[in-house]
Amino acid sequence: MSRPSDFPPPYAPSDYVAEPSDPEGEQIEVGILIVGAGPAGLACAIRLGQLLEEHPGVAERLGEVPVALVEKGKQPGSHLLSGAVVNPRSLRRLFRGRLRFEDIPSYGPVHGEAVYLLTKRAALRIPPPPPMRNHGNSIFSLSQLGRFLADRAEEGGTMILPETAAEKLLVSHGRVVGVRTGDKGRGREGEQLGNFEPGADLVASVTVLAEGTQGHLTGVALDRFGLAGEDPQVWELGVKEVWKVAKPLRHVVHTMGWPLRLGTKYREFGGSFVYPMGDDMLTIGMVVGLDYRDVELSVHDLLQELKTHPRIRKLLAGGERVAWGAKTIPSGGFHSLPSRLHAPGLLLCGDGAGMVNIARLKGVHYAIESGRLAAEAAFGALQPGATPATALASYDAAVRESFIWSDLYEVRNMRQVFGRGFLVGGALASAMTVSKGRIELGALQAEPDAEAPLLRSDQTSSYPAADGELTFDKLSSVFASGNKTRDDQPDHIRIQSRVPRDVAELWAHMCPAQVYEVGDDLGDGTVEVRTSPSNCVQCGAISAKGGRLTPPEGGSGPEYTLT
Ligand SMILES: Cc1cc2nc3c(=O)[nH]c(=O)nc-3n(C[C@H](O)[C@H](O)[C@H](O)COP(=O)(O)OP(=O)(O)OC[C@H]3O[C@@H](n4cnc5c(N)ncnc54)[C@H](O)[C@@H]3O)c2cc1C
Ligand code: SF4
Repeated sequence: MSRPSDFPPPYAPSDYVAEPSDPEGEQIEVGILIVGAGPAGLACAIRLGQLLEEHPGVAERLGEVPVALVEKGKQPGSHLLSGAVVNPRSLRRLFRGRLRFEDIPSYGPVHGEAVYLLTKRAALRIPPPPPMRNHGNSIFSLSQLGRFLADRAEEGGTMILPETAAEKLLVSHGRVVGVRTGDKGRGREGEQLGNFEPGADLVASVTVLAEGTQGHLTGVALDRFGLAGEDPQVWELGVKEVWKVAKPLRHVVHTMGWPLRLGTKYREFGGSFVYPMGDDMLTIGMVVGLDYRDVELSVHDLLQELKTHPRIRKLLAGGERVAWGAKTIPSGGFHSLPSRLHAPGLLLCGDGAGMVNIARLKGVHYAIESGRLAAEAAFGALQPGATPATALASYDAAVRESFIWSDLYEVRNMRQVFGRGFLVGGALASAMTVSKGRIELGALQAEPDAEAPLLRSDQTSSYPAADGELTFDKLSSVFASGNKTRDDQPDHIRIQSRVPRDVAELWAHMCPAQVYEVGDDLGDGTVEVRTSPSNCVQCGAISAKGGRLTPPEGGSGPEYTLT
């Protein structure tokens, strides 16, 4: 059988690097430019606001717009999706002396936890393995937290530009000088429609990329400046739902095992989470490593199957699904971090740089911490007499001295050990956490997700039919994401459109939003792949598994409010 990597997409990162092209007077000049209103980008904006308030002279020198932030979603929060059980340490530090952690809207602290090993009908409660202990953490909706943080950033003087996709990295004389935003109002073939608005050059002294998972310009920057890490990045796909429920859930639940298969040949690494959201809601999600091999694996449908388990069904009884969404999570960890987190004029933070502890399923506090540290380095670069290159290099040093680095080092082989199977991998993962990373496992090279050789089993036969109450099909899930992508805009997904049947079927099953369909047999061992790009919720899985997601027109995509 094939590997998706044998059919690379028609995509070159260099196509997204450009010199500024707007005439000088028409460029939009800002002091510091942030791409992405996730926890990383918003923490960066908030910290910059604090620093500029303390140093009004610097703010004045930066001109009319000292800090600008572009976000491709309809509004901050629209594209944010997470668990989100959050370690509070970075939020506390970000707002120290200004706002109490308890005053940030949340669903309160974690009150207890239960971990189950599932089989199709039974659930064996096991003691929580060390990485799954959540004492001291609090539960949020990341989308709601994003809106709260965006308000704080605006109060601090950041100009937020929603519905704006950063499409090209502006590089001049070897230095990043900003981004070019995408055009709006183009038709399917790229033609200008009546409401056409060209993109613009946003020019800045420092550009902070906080794009999150599968960051488009982050990938371009890694390529342009040779910043790739020791190991390739790998990803998990998370699909989640929010439910209104009749009976409150009081503790967080994690499950392992069914409906994933334990056999090493399948490489099905992952599990589920069920987190309470106050008295009348909960969130339930399924996360699976994208190095899986079965062409019929669908994380969307595995989540539907999970909900039919007696233990899980009980939690949802009498309830109603109120939201749905999907997103990838970088899971390569320490060895997949970029070799440097800065380039001339540029800083990288959060998930875009791969700052996730996958064993704990935690990234929000690393994103916030890295955003805060990026703000301090960017601010340092603007001080009179500062040498920008040295000031930006101080960001790398600060990250290396922070808990981001030591935490990720401790679990540095976490993702790779699961390649040895669930039971051996699980035991090694716990041993690594307990020993605080002192166990040496030798070099465990990660393989890019798209290089996993495919196999086929009859997995689809176990997926439950959608009943519209407990279980749903992909199109109704896309509807529940609030997706409003315009049908007639240019296709933003780059894939080969003639591929062997197994690759086409892999994409069709993998995509949680039903973007791909297997078309006609072309008679030469390939089939046509048909796409419905307007279904896309920009989860990023296709970029891990042989294609490439590029940002569609700003304002497209899901409109998450509770995820
Ligand atoms: C299913 C799931 C469960 C998780 N559970 C947890 C958990 O319980 N606890 C935890 O701590 N972490 C969890 N994580 C991880 C956590 O959500 C991430 O680590 C965190 O959101 C990363 O923050 P970020 O700011 O780097 O990126 P993001 O949160 O992804 O934000 C990036 C923002 O940038 C915008 N953007 C991207 N590219 C562009 C562009 N080119 N132009 C304009 N805007 C752009 C996006 O629209 C988005 O709003 C989970 C993740 C998933 C998917
Ligand atoms: S097409 Fe969109 S929703 Fe589907 S896998 Fe790709 S990025 Fe995710």
